[in-house]
Amino acid sequence: MKHIIEIIDQEPVLSDRLLQLCHWATDYYHHPIGDVLSNALPVSLRKGAPAQEPNLNLTITDTGKAFDPADIGRAPRQRALLQALQLKSALNKDDLRDLDIKSPVIAALVKKNLVAWQIREPDAKRSVDVIRSYDQIEPSNQQQDAINLIDQPGTYLLHGITGSGKTEVYLRAIEEVLRKNEQALVLVPEIGLTPQTLSRFTQRFTVPIETIHSGLTNRERLKAWQNAAEGKAQIVIGTRSAIFTPLPNLGLLVVDEEHDGSFKQQEGFRYSARDLAVMRGQLEKIPVILGSATPALESLHNCNLGKYKLIKLPERSAGARRETYQLLNLRNKELKSGLSPELIVQIRDELEKGNQVLVFINRRGFAPVLFCQECQWIAKCDRCDARLTLHLERRFLMCHHCGVQLRVPNKCGECHSGQFIPLGAGTQRVEETLSSIYPTYPIYRIDRDSTLSKGSLENLVNRIQEGQPAILVGTQMLAKGHHFAGVTLVAMLEIDAGFFSSDYKAMERTGQLILQVGGRAGREARQGKVMLQTQFADQPILQQLIRDGYSAFAETILAERKLNDLPPFTYQCLFRAESTQRNSAMDFLEEVSAKLPPEPSVEMLGPIPQTMEKRAGRFRAQLLFSSRSRSLLHRLVKEGVAVAQASKRSNRIRWSLDIDPVDLV
Ligand code: ADP
Ligand code: ZN
Ligand code: ZN
Repeated sequence: MKHIIEIIDQEPVLSDRLLQLCHWATDYYHHPIGDVLSNALPVSLRKGAPAQEPNLNLTITDTGKAFDPADIGRAPRQRALLQALQLKSALNKDDLRDLDIKSPVIAALVKKNLVAWQIREPDAKRSVDVIRSYDQIEPSNQQQDAINLIDQPGTYLLHGITGSGKTEVYLRAIEEVLRKNEQALVLVPEIGLTPQTLSRFTQRFTVPIETIHSGLTNRERLKAWQNAAEGKAQIVIGTRSAIFTPLPNLGLLVVDEEHDGSFKQQEGFRYSARDLAVMRGQLEKIPVILGSATPALESLHNCNLGKYKLIKLPERSAGARRETYQLLNLRNKELKSGLSPELIVQIRDELEKGNQVLVFINRRGFAPVLFCQECQWIAKCDRCDARLTLHLERRFLMCHHCGVQLRVPNKCGECHSGQFIPLGAGTQRVEETLSSIYPTYPIYRIDRDSTLSKGSLENLVNRIQEGQPAILVGTQMLAKGHHFAGVTLVAMLEIDAGFFSSDYKAMERTGQLILQVGGRAGREARQGKVMLQTQFADQPILQQLIRDGYSAFAETILAERKLNDLPPFTYQCLFRAESTQRNSAMDFLEEVSAKLPPEPSVEMLGPIPQTMEKRAGRFRAQLLFSSRSRSLLHRLVKEGVAVAQASKRSNRIRWSLDIDPVDLV
């Protein structure tokens, strides 16, 4: 126990409802409340800065107006306050200070329902229209139907194909909320908050908008937080942690690209901001819109169960046609840095028509493997069970798992020859090959390495948007949030990871990736085409995805999951442990599993070493719990946590708990 040194704030920094949300998260994620609260607060507040007093007025209630101050009894300060409020129906903090009224006096009258706190109406601003401009956009019939359906508290899954105009639905729904003087919170994926996204909100609305994301300084973050808490900001757009923003008049919650993995925090307090949004919506009794072109299977499942309402936007808006898909069978094909002969021809064709081409490859660097031709040695990371990726620009080998960087050796470490060859292709190699095949066209590479410096991404995006024929090469970064009007062909060089992975979610992710990246093609008048290079062109699931679309694909996978007792038909929880000693993590998890009472309805799998056992010098293991009953699962997990905490081994290893894990490998 520690002594209280100082009372920093007169008002609680978290509202009752936010506090309720935090308590719920503590129970659900089995995570200490202290750390949950710490996650919910801006860093400055965690370090003891005062939260500015909210912009509140003390007002008199109807009961208070009719109440005779003489009946207050022997409480002169309360009587004085009531009388003051009967004369002047609202008092702000300064007035109260001048009258020397202290918190307990106010609290007593609030309790008697004679007075109440109210958010002060910001002055003149509200009288002007909330709309700046509709940009000549009239909602289409399908958009209008969607808007009409979102009319009461509840969770709505807005499943609209890429380019169907989901954002317009959000904007119209937000408009309603603003007209009622309420606030809206919009969550976007980590790299989804582009200047383009923000400008769609600022062009539409006159109201103050705050953004909350990892690029803010602590001061900026605190300011945004305060503006939201005081009701000054009427729209808050933010990434994962923005779910904890205090918004006293919250009227609507939107989670854009709800399937995106970045809504799940992957360390410490491992919460899902999407799931917390749904919970917050319930506590606040407001509508929550989850939007995506490729909804998570668990969200679709919740629609099937009737927990969420499904709203579909099956067509592209504004006359743009849907992109078409084609599989390019790679069997027995000679590739040039990952490019098949057909693709090389197609790309030239589009460029000559004056169009842009997007080439997607989800691997940065030059080549994923450096190989010795003499002795077949492969460059590996000492600290991880992983190969080193060759980056040619600055000539180093890099581990994409622990970040270690090494100079490219001159001689093979085994046989001392110099016969290295790079195998496979990453973005840099594809860029190099493309520029040798199409020397007259500009090539823009967008990945984490090419956008390291501030503003470089924006620069690249602006150049691309000028619309000259060009090739865009890049990773996922290219696929999110951007609207490139000139792109008519999207080529995905490798989509096969999902067929090899041991993670049951890999196929779902592959389907989402294909449609998200493919959806960049033909966003405006010119029809778009997507070419997918694959070794699995004859796989029915792939054919179904491109022929029948995401819903059919999702139903097939859901049926498989049901058959195999996998989420969302069962619930999972993962204990992870890691240690610098090879067997410690396994031993620790063995102990946890051995000390738990048998529970027939909960399956325990493991412990097993993780697929990449060694990472950044630590050996990692995991123990998976799975059950059809969420409550039985959580009961056992709770015991597991107690066992883990009590274990003598626990101070020599790091362990963590992941509820509803998204990454199982
Ligand atoms: P999504 O988020 O579903 O991928 P967007 O909201 O980005 O789609 O819309 C795609 C494009 O269509 C945008 O350029 C948008 O301005 C335009 N758009 C959307 N709805 C309409 C509409 N009703 N009329 C005209 N243009 C529209
Ligand atoms: Zn060698
Ligand atoms: Zn490494």
